[in-house]
This record gives sequence, structure tokens and C-alpha cells, in this order.
Amino acid sequence: METFSPQAGSATAESPNSIIAGRQGVWLKGDWHLHSRHSTDSTNNPIARIIDFAEKLGFDYLAITDHDVHVRGDVANHTWSDPEFKSDSLLLFYGAELTAARGHINILSEGPYDHQRIFDARDRRDWDLLALKRELGIHMSANHPSTKNHYGYSFDLADSVEIWNSSVWPKNIPGLRIWDDMLLSGRMLGGRGGSDAHHGPVERPGPVTPQALEATANYVGTPTTWVFAREKTGRAVLDAMARGHASVSANPFNPRVEFYADPFGSGVPDMMMGDNVHPTGAPVAFEIRLIGGTVPGAHYKINIVKNRELFDTFFLTADSHISVARFTDTPALATRTYYRVEVEGPQSPFSLVPNAMAQSGSMVALSNPLYFNYDPNF
Ligand SMILES: [Zn+2]
Ligand SMILES: [Zn+2]
Repeated sequence: METFSPQAGSATAESPNSIIAGRQGVWLKGDWHLHSRHSTDSTNNPIARIIDFAEKLGFDYLAITDHDVHVRGDVANHTWSDPEFKSDSLLLFYGAELTAARGHINILSEGPYDHQRIFDARDRRDWDLLALKRELGIHMSANHPSTKNHYGYSFDLADSVEIWNSSVWPKNIPGLRIWDDMLLSGRMLGGRGGSDAHHGPVERPGPVTPQALEATANYVGTPTTWVFAREKTGRAVLDAMARGHASVSANPFNPRVEFYADPFGSGVPDMMMGDNVHPTGAPVAFEIRLIGGTVPGAHYKINIVKNRELFDTFFLTADSHISVARFTDTPALATRTYYRVEVEGPQSPFSLVPNAMAQSGSMVALSNPLYFNYDPNF
């Protein structure tokens, strides 16, 4: 966890977030999509192994989202009641992967809720599910929208979407296009990652199975989602995720991308990822930061996507703590505009999951959008 100091001032290595004017919060890192032994297609992955790994790497939150169909919806008496489902340092979300004929949804909550009712309603109409979602106060996150068992429900149900599933980056490219389509349609939909790891590392020498190899290429934190929350509580993290105060990195040792703007010419980049403002018609200064984790001296390619199209590309040479790129553009006065950032470059090594780097290719990090003229009551 990195704390944020609210005093205004220039960005420094010690307080890289200090110029988010007037906004207090913490950057928290975690994984939103994991399977333990309570999913029958998982191997070598008791909950304690997942949590030990995450604690050792300094993660802040985890969502263990077992397939609910494997326990006929009764996750409360499986994953949640497992004596290993506890941690002193990690925020653990209650949830499960709703596993239905028309796709997968990660159901997430800061506390226990009646998952059985969601499971029993999984094949009903979306409007029935929406009513149930509101009644239970849960977060619904659309899983892997373009791959096998893709999210086939309406995006009107979704509070967030999995824009990066597992360490394998290239298979997510069609999903990114779906996200762009939804953003362009007027939905402000938080993007997140999820390793979807099913298999734990094999600790003793033994027969090498495909599953054993998988643990070396995809595990907790491939990818990692960084969330800027007002405090380290489940409610605050889910709120921040739904609003898109978050970015995704291929692994926890990669730089975190942050994306800001100064929409009113205050001289301070006080608009952050997930924020929505009405532009003034004047040019807006935008700022991209890579925080920590860079490969020294490496060049990163920064792609700016504006309204689904590639708007511009910059190259940024890494600094050890914070690297900054800036550009200016004038968002339209009368129509919606969104901007988001993709960062390509070398992967920082993740020695405990050594084969993840190759799977992620050159995609290092993705931001959430900055929104202009969106309707918050859409
Ligand atoms: Zn799934
Ligand atoms: Zn899954």
C-alpha cells in the first residue's frame, strides 16, 4: 500500500501522488479473479497457498472467485467458510464467478451476501438480475468479454469489466475493442484485470503436468490491478473500481500507469482516471505518469486512444521512480470524449512467475479513461 499525501507540490519519488489536488486516498494492488481448490478445475491451489503468495508479495486485496456451479451456488459453505479464508494484511472480497450458460460474471462484495439467489437466477432475464443486484448491493464485473464463456449479459448490469484476463495479453485484444465500444456508447465502465489463475505452483518434484507449467506462467498478479481508493476498505475499493480510479499492469513489478488532466487550467492535474468533467472549450493539458517498476533506461511506447481511435503515440525513457509524458488536446464542447492510455515496452521480471513475461508480450499497462461530457445518470 502506498499512502498519498494531499499537500500540493511537485511530484517526487517519495510522494509521487502529491499533486492530486485535494484528493486523499491510497493506491492498492491486487487480483480480482482467482480460483482455489473449491473450483473443481483447479489444481495445487488451496486458499492458504494463494493468500501466502499474495501476502509475501505485498498485495493489498484479493478476490477469490471460485466457480459457483461447482458447488451449486453454495459458495458460502465452501470458499467463504474455508478456515484458510483469512488474512491479517489482505482485504479479502466475498464473491464467486457466476458460471452460467451465457457467460461468466465475477460477483464481488465487501461482505457476505446471498450468492445462492444469484446462482438460482443466473438464466433469468437481465432486468430480473439487475433488480436482484440492486437488492443485494453487490458489484457485477463482466468477465473475459471476448474469450471462451464470454460475458454474454447486458453491459447495463456491469459495474466493471475484465479488460485483461490472465498473463496472455494477445487474446484480450478483442475484449479491449468491446470495452471501447461500450465507452463510446456513453457507458463509464471501470476496466480491471484478473489472472483467472486456477493452478498453484507444485512444491515438490513430481510429474510435470500441463497444470504445473501453467503456474509458472499465470498466477496471482498477472495482471495486477492498482486501485486508488479513499481508504483500504472493501466498500471504498469497489466504489473506486466501478468509477475507474484504477489501472492494470502485466505484473506487480511493472510500472503503474497513471493518467491525469488539468481541465480548467488551474496548473494542477486535478482530474484523474475515471473522472468526468464538462470541458470549457479551451485546450486541456494531459499527463501520463509511469510510477516505479520500470526497466532502467528502457523506452516505453505510450499510445493515447481517443474515442476508440489511436490519437497519438509518444516514447518515454524510463526514470527509476516516476516518468512523465504530456500532451494537449481540446475535448469537444457538445459531444462525449474519452481518452485512455496503453503502455508498451519491456516487462519487468517477475521471478516467482517466470514465464508470465513472455505471455504478456510487449503490453505493460493500461489506464482507465478520462471522460468529458459523459452523463453520470446514463
Ligand atoms: Zn470465466
Ligand atoms: Zn475464472
